[in-house]
Amino acid sequence: MRVVVNGAAGKMGAEVCKAVQSSPDLHLVAGVDPRGRGLLRGVEIFTNLKEALEASSADVVVDFTTPQAVGSNMETCLAHNVPMVVGTTGLSVAELKEWQARALQENWKAIIAPNFAIGAVLMMKYAQEAVAFFEHAEIIEYHHAQKLDAPSGTALRTRKMMQEVHDKEIPIHSVRSPGLVAHQEVILGLPGQTLTIRHDSNNRESFMPGVLLAIRRIPNIRGVVIGLEHILFTVI
Ligand code: NAP
Repeated sequence: MRVVVNGAAGKMGAEVCKAVQSSPDLHLVAGVDPRGRGLLRGVEIFTNLKEALEASSADVVVDFTTPQAVGSNMETCLAHNVPMVVGTTGLSVAELKEWQARALQENWKAIIAPNFAIGAVLMMKYAQEAVAFFEHAEIIEYHHAQKLDAPSGTALRTRKMMQEVHDKEIPIHSVRSPGLVAHQEVILGLPGQTLTIRHDSNNRESFMPGVLLAIRRIPNIRGVVIGLEHILFTVI
């Protein structure tokens, strides 16, 4: 598959470029990043997504950019009929719903996941299962100081999944500090006991198996799939 990485000079984008280049079945055909035109590990970096798509005949665009840029990047890919794997967080629930509807109407597809770490997806699933048994639930998410959005997409998605089972108030607390990568605790309480479900991404490599899985699954999906759990637990 021919892959374009959008945000190729960023922390996640650079890691995705490395992971794609290490996969014999995937071919990194271009990168895009406003930080500069040129070559990165032998691959051309464009400053503009449209230009990269016109030059590269991509099968998929992987997007790790910014909450401000992701919507217009999706518009560009839809206009060029190129599927996407979106890791960028910050899209609201309403925006995600709208994209799901538009994708079906316009026969476009994307996998959007707030967290590509397999352990984090399991944390969300276990929290969803456990919440029915507890009176009280809170989420604490911890991220590096440069993260632009708060609460994190993972925390919002965890809360949504838990509230699908048990509609209760679930506060989210956000910690931003140097020294952190991406961590989350779900604390469930009953009189006399608590259950804490915790996941730690200690480096950005933790997201790569999930990103590669999403790239490989994109030919088999229809419309917009939200959440890695939908491709992790289902053979499609
Ligand atoms: P980062 O280091 O700031 O990288 C973002 C890169 O995108 C920067 O190089 C930025 O350039 C570039 N960019 C900005 N606007 C662009 C556009 N319109 N087109 C192309 N590139 C553009 O951030 P990061 O830590 O890699 O995180 C990126 C996103 O991924 C964030 O939303 C973060 O929350 C999310 N994330 C998701 C997961 C997951 O598993 N889903 C995991 C980690 C992070 P400038 O600096 O010049 O603006």
